[in-house]
Amino acid sequence: MDTFAQSLWSALARPRIPRPALATDVDVDILICGGGFMGLSTALHLARAGVTVAVAEGKEVGFGASGRNTGFVVPSLKTAIGPEDVIDRMGPIFAERLVSLVGQSGDIVFDLVRDLSLDCDAEQSGWLQPAHSRAMLAVVDRRAREWQRRGTDVVMLDRAATAQQVGADVYHGALFVRSGGQINPLAYARGLADACIAAGVHLFEDTPISGFERTGNGWRALASQGSVRAKRVLLATNGLVGALVPEVDASIIPARVFQIATQRYDCATQSQILPNRMPVADTRRHTFAVRWSPDGRLMTGGLVVAGPRAVQRAQAKFSERLARFFPGLEKPQAAHAWTGTIAVTIDSYPRFMSVAPNMDAIIGCNGRGVALTTALGRELARHYAGTGENFVLPQEKPKAIPMRRLAALAPSLWLPFSEFRDARESARA
Ligand SMILES: Cc1cc2nc3c(=O)[nH]c(=O)nc-3n(C[C@H](O)[C@H](O)[C@H](O)COP(=O)(O)OP(=O)(O)OC[C@H]3O[C@@H](n4cnc5c(N)ncnc54)[C@H](O)[C@@H]3O)c2cc1C
Repeated sequence: MDTFAQSLWSALARPRIPRPALATDVDVDILICGGGFMGLSTALHLARAGVTVAVAEGKEVGFGASGRNTGFVVPSLKTAIGPEDVIDRMGPIFAERLVSLVGQSGDIVFDLVRDLSLDCDAEQSGWLQPAHSRAMLAVVDRRAREWQRRGTDVVMLDRAATAQQVGADVYHGALFVRSGGQINPLAYARGLADACIAAGVHLFEDTPISGFERTGNGWRALASQGSVRAKRVLLATNGLVGALVPEVDASIIPARVFQIATQRYDCATQSQILPNRMPVADTRRHTFAVRWSPDGRLMTGGLVVAGPRAVQRAQAKFSERLARFFPGLEKPQAAHAWTGTIAVTIDSYPRFMSVAPNMDAIIGCNGRGVALTTALGRELARHYAGTGENFVLPQEKPKAIPMRRLAALAPSLWLPFSEFRDARESARA
């Protein structure tokens, strides 16, 4: 059973305005498949640049990862990837563009929220990445210096300051990125959809695209009750691409991420734990991430080994994890529990793929997509509309992950081993 309706965000976001399903034949410059942040941000910025654009969403806006995530606005790639790593991996031209965009991505989200007056509980309270071991303290300290050299507003907090910000004295210090923060992601997605409509985007919900036919240099995208003819197609389907374009699906591992929101806590508790409402995601291999919801609940989540009753096991596991971190806390109970799918790439970098002439896919923000998809969408729109410089990611052909069926088991195999190592390092520390 799908858990979208069980999420805290479904309970908190203002009711959705349903959009019509595609019921005729439509002609546009660009069709975007997928109504998550990536599709919506690209569509909004394209429409603002005068390009005619349609978005076809298979279910409803935000139904994918965008409406189900924790709402951390994180101006950073995965923990293992700092600015210098990007340069080593991508070479100076693309790397500098990508690093600069990642560094600005928090401001891009919050500026857009302000610009569009989006009602999505946005709090630019900063983002904290505490180090769970001395070795990781050295890593985040190096990261801080790399970002500072680029003029990004980040600082290192010492052990005492970190304990004060977290409300628990379990870390060696932390990287603090001022431009980060938190939002209600479903409300943000719905607000972006409203802005898309206002900008002239043709937005269709309940419109799963089932296939594509070539027409001249462009494409006809097929849905059950109509079709969209477009000069160009962008797949923004993330981990849910499935059989629509098998070569894109083969280039990622879809991973299921679990999320809980506890009962509500009183003001006294909220003033002790994360008193400045900064979302926290630490350096463990299996990251401990925690934030306050707008209505006073603690939210956390992560992976559990796949199998029956996984949601129930996640509820128990993450409630216990919260209780371990915050021992004085009234026993956490999972009042809401839900799951979503992220697209994991083999090296944790996002991908911009050329699937066929005039058909691209942009995918793979690896669980760090709230800020990055918004920022990438803006840049991709500029690139397509010819109003920006070259895009920030190199375009490549989809590359199948070797032994993908086995690789799909990787999160479950990786998890117990990583948790064991995290626990050992924390105990030593
Ligand atoms: C539980 C969870 C917690 C997370 N927490 C965070 C966080 O705190 N911070 C952060 O930065 N990132 C987080 N992420 C990652 C972040 O949510 C994603 O990187 C981001 O939302 C991806 O956006 P997207 O638009 O690329 O994809 P999605 O939001 O997944 O959108 C893809 C859309 O494509 C649609 N679609 C698929 N196939 C078709 C088709 N054939 N026809 C039409 N439509 C189709 C789907 O219905 C879906 O709506 C989290 C993810 C999960 C699952």
